[in-house]
Amino acid sequence: MKVIVCIKQVPETTEVEIDSQTNTLIREGVASIINPFDMYAIEEAIRLKERYNAQTFVITMGPPQADSVLREAISLGIDEAVHLCDRTFAGSDTCATSLVLSKTIGKIGNYDLILCGKQASDGDTAQVGPGIATYLNLPQATYVRKIDEIDVKKKVIKVERLLEEGYEILELDLPALITVVKEINEPRLPSLRGKMKARKQSIPIWTNKDLELKEKDVGIEGSPTQVVKIFSPPARQQGIIFEGESKECVDKLGEELRKYIL
Ligand SMILES: Cc1cc2nc3c(=O)[nH]c(=O)nc-3n(C[C@H](O)[C@H](O)[C@H](O)COP(=O)(O)OP(=O)(O)OC[C@H]3O[C@@H](n4cnc5c(N)ncnc54)[C@H](O)[C@@H]3O)c2cc1C
Repeated sequence: MKVIVCIKQVPETTEVEIDSQTNTLIREGVASIINPFDMYAIEEAIRLKERYNAQTFVITMGPPQADSVLREAISLGIDEAVHLCDRTFAGSDTCATSLVLSKTIGKIGNYDLILCGKQASDGDTAQVGPGIATYLNLPQATYVRKIDEIDVKKKVIKVERLLEEGYEILELDLPALITVVKEINEPRLPSLRGKMKARKQSIPIWTNKDLELKEKDVGIEGSPTQVVKIFSPPARQQGIIFEGESKECVDKLGEELRKYIL
């Protein structure tokens, strides 16, 4: 069984400054970590390695310094890593990010399970996992709090998916993609042996030459999302209650929201 974990390097703090000229996050000088939810995905992959003898991979798309998150994953027990690093990928929105990651997963090949975090602590959209599943045409389960079992012969996975009240049990055919929540496990700490292995391991860097995606489909050019304005909302004051018919309320809500983005 082959398990591939997608991990993202994120700023250590959630209080990142915004560049008002470019509408992007100012990442320089901010310490970086593995996206906290991805730590749970890594731990789950290592548990699958221990339980089913799975071969485990981590992949990340990010600048050269994202190498450190891949090494941290190896120090925890992941077998192999691939770093997607190319200027062509810079400025990718969730759509282009999902495309690059899905193409990478396809190139690694013969995968059974893809694990992602529920969401990233900086971008926060929770779109990339479902985006990858869509590109690869895979069954998916989001907000998974437990992998009950995997029938390796029948190629079926049974999971518990967190709902607002309670949970549901789903069975998916493999290969499949799941995104995980923090209830799924408690991530371990790296061992000294793991740290030494991580320092020595060679990690391939794949560029767009390896993926052969059209340049118009990645980076800023391949990103249909337009950031109109980024701002910190003012501290919450007393809420507004709209009264009247539903349509009237929706129109009033629209007017209120427009004040913040125009
Ligand atoms: C127009 C535009 C330009 C942007 N430009 C930049 C930019 O220049 N630099 C930049 O850093 N961001 C940029 N972003 C943000 C970027 O789109 C998101 O960071 C990225 O698509 C992931 O979305 P998210 O953070 O919401 O992840 P989510 O969808 O919340 O993440 C869910 C899960 O997907 C996986 N995942 C997410 N991202 C990655 C990744 N990169 N590698 C591996 N796994 C991943 C992880 O498992 C994660 O837990 C830009 C966004 C827009 C809209």
